Amino acid sequence: MDALTFKKCINPSCGLTHDINNDIYRCSCGSLLDIKYSEKQSRDLIEKFYHRRDHGGNIYNESGVWRFRELINFVGINTEDFEECARLLVSLDGSEGRLSKPYKMSKVAEYASMDHNSLFLQPEGYNPSGSFKDNGMSTAMTHAKMIGVKRIVCASTGNTSASAAMYAANENMACDVYIPRGEIAPGKLGQAFQFGAQIIQVQGNFDDALTASLKNAKETGGYTVNSVNPFRLEGQKTILYRALEYLDWSPPDWIVYPGGALGNASSCGKCLIELYEWGWIKKIPRLVVVNAEGADTLYKLYNGFFEDKPLRWNGGRPDLAIIDRYYAHLDKKGIRPKTHATAIQIGRPANIVKALRALDFTNGVVVEVSDKEMSDGMSIVGLNGFDCEMASGAVPAGVKKLRKEGVMKKDDVVVGILTGRQKDPALAVEYHTNVDNMFARPPTSH
Ligand SMILES: [Zn+2]
Repeated sequence: MDALTFKKCINPSCGLTHDINNDIYRCSCGSLLDIKYSEKQSRDLIEKFYHRRDHGGNIYNESGVWRFRELINFVGINTEDFEECARLLVSLDGSEGRLSKPYKMSKVAEYASMDHNSLFLQPEGYNPSGSFKDNGMSTAMTHAKMIGVKRIVCASTGNTSASAAMYAANENMACDVYIPRGEIAPGKLGQAFQFGAQIIQVQGNFDDALTASLKNAKETGGYTVNSVNPFRLEGQKTILYRALEYLDWSPPDWIVYPGGALGNASSCGKCLIELYEWGWIKKIPRLVVVNAEGADTLYKLYNGFFEDKPLRWNGGRPDLAIIDRYYAHLDKKGIRPKTHATAIQIGRPANIVKALRALDFTNGVVVEVSDKEMSDGMSIVGLNGFDCEMASGAVPAGVKKLRKEGVMKKDDVVVGILTGRQKDPALAVEYHTNVDNMFARPPTSH
């Protein structure tokens, strides 16, 4: 057992630890695993992280992920040794996370009835493959490289495949991606092809593609880079590090993410738990997960809209049977996840239990929004000069809803994560061509 870093079962009544030099992502009891560090990190690192922004050509300082490498040092490197970083850390020339930070967007604030100075949105679409996935893919690929992987495997609603294929091409690894046929944005599919991935089209939805992908990885020895892989979530913690750094490590009142496979919500929870345990933060921001109405498993279960019993972390003993009964209910009724926000068109979120832990720690909230509301959210972000995909439009739409319901106050400090760039331009064209849409600016003829 590695003395400094190990995997640990998230189920507190099991708590089994595992070595990190393998691709096991599930404990023998069936629960997912966390990456655990035995060393407590000193708050003095804040100064170091800040100074690294003046990177002096060091790509590991330039990278918005590896700039925080002490906090995700599962490889166990000397973080000041450039040669060691270069040999072991996977980076697309320092570009992951480099451009992401919170921005004030006055038109979004107005749309959501928030103070202009208290709403921040962080466009993770400005990552090299165009989504937040690059944060976690750089760390998952680092682990893959560390254990000598030759072929990675994933299922994807689009962004994961683009990111995985990009890093695989760069690291000279093979990449198999399982996608639901006809259900992903054309721009994302094009990226996966262009980066040389082997596309496997699955009849069905993302949940079916994930099942096929995990089965293939198990049977043929491929390395899974979906968010069930705990190393993915380590990299995604840096999304929050960058937001907190921008706010001088003074936590906001709220952090808002769209909800799909719930990797981001899970990663956010783990990040906050660690920072709190290390004494870096005293206040715990409240997590908001925004589901699409057509893919709202977490919303329904967390809020007790199925069997009238809210599903909660419950000290590490969530009622897993209710999740199974809910999925059986979906199957019986023939209900499939359906939303134009394909990035979050997921009915069986793989990280649901970790997300429950995050919601518990942060006194979190789960809301849902319609496709129309997400389209408006996406469009108002565009009118501030930033582009984002429809799933990211769930963030402004969710904030607007929580303001209307009186859950959020006008001057609460809110950081919303815009998860990906627009890779389905037809959606924006359709939106603006229809005069009935709130922010439409239809074309004129000459
Ligand atoms: Zn276990």
